[in-house]
Amino acid sequence: MKKFHTVIVGGGPGGLACATLLAEQGKDVLVLERNSAIGPKVCAGGIPSLGKKFGFPEILWERSFTHQCISSNWQHTIIQDANPIIRTVDRGRLGRWMAERAVAVGVSIATNSLVLKITKNSVLTRGGEEVGYDFLVGGDGSGSLVRRQLGIPTEQIGIGINYQVPGNFPEMQWHLNTDLFGNGYAWIFPHQDTASIGVYARRSTTKPGILLNSLHQWAESHNIELKSRQPQAALINFDFRGWHFGNHFLIGDAAGLASGLTGEGIYSAIVSGQEAARTILDKNYKSKTMDQLIEKHRQHTRILDLASGNKLTGKLILETLIFGLRTGLIPFNALEMGFDQTS
Ligand SMILES: Cc1cc2nc3c(=O)[nH]c(=O)nc-3n(C[C@H](O)[C@H](O)[C@H](O)COP(=O)(O)OP(=O)(O)OC[C@H]3O[C@@H](n4cnc5c(N)ncnc54)[C@H](O)[C@@H]3O)c2cc1C
Repeated sequence: MKKFHTVIVGGGPGGLACATLLAEQGKDVLVLERNSAIGPKVCAGGIPSLGKKFGFPEILWERSFTHQCISSNWQHTIIQDANPIIRTVDRGRLGRWMAERAVAVGVSIATNSLVLKITKNSVLTRGGEEVGYDFLVGGDGSGSLVRRQLGIPTEQIGIGINYQVPGNFPEMQWHLNTDLFGNGYAWIFPHQDTASIGVYARRSTTKPGILLNSLHQWAESHNIELKSRQPQAALINFDFRGWHFGNHFLIGDAAGLASGLTGEGIYSAIVSGQEAARTILDKNYKSKTMDQLIEKHRQHTRILDLASGNKLTGKLILETLIFGLRTGLIPFNALEMGFDQTS
């Protein structure tokens, strides 16, 4: 049986960020990815401005936006900044770039490697290969096997539906229409020659079919033709119940660290991947960054819980939020998982 210092299940942004940091410090790391290619994932590809800290090159960005257009039943506002507030990225390109960087520092990546079983110190893949580890990191997304094997349930889940529509879309838009989307929202996130157009909402308050119909209804009223296209949908886990369990770690969506309020999770995946690596490297490391990330995540869940009450309360909460953004009482960054890291 082959053995690695750390085995990471899942080659998403969280798993790759974790692997790179460990390999940079001389650890032998294996990333097991079930898909044949690293990268592609149902996603709108929005990364908050603080994502710049991850050292991604400018050429990776599809588009950058200094303006955010936000509409609700009662209000419309444009938030602006001198610097880009959000950038968009193609998940295939992001994955390839992160994987190349990981391999360059010595990470082994095995694609077509679905992990089927986990024991105390080894994993078993569909091909029948058993690989040993000292540390195991679950970076395997919202349906995480590592999480299930740790006995951690997943109850708080969001649904995201995405269409990639060809065309040149000038603005980044958020539509918080409570009549159509409840506590969720529809978006237009422009990329180079396409836009991600989709909808996100908490699963316990809506059904996927109803959400899709609402998106179609909204798109028609904005002269956007979606019905003839193929949607892609995925679940987003925001049920955070811990990330460090002895020599086992959960990061990103596997840990439930995506925002329940917006469905944003790339930033949390990368930050938690890096912090898991630092904790593996130094058992005395106390991650203030994880404390901050978890606090921000809780704030988002609290707002979502308030907005998930009765219809009128939900509407008032979201309208108050937009009013706060309009008047500058609430910074746009409050809606993002990004924060200034102190450790
Ligand atoms: C419609 C939609 C739109 C979104 N838009 C945004 C956005 O604009 N901005 C944003 O920040 N976030 C967005 N998200 C959320 C974002 O996609 C996730 O939060 C992010 O990808 C989490 O990264 P991760 O590394 O934790 O997991 P993932 O990116 O899900 O990666 C997990 C990897 O693990 C692999 N895997 C799973 N199980 C196994 C197994 N048993 N064996 C081996 N490999 C396995 C998977 O194939 C996958 O490659 C969106 C999500 C959806 C559904």
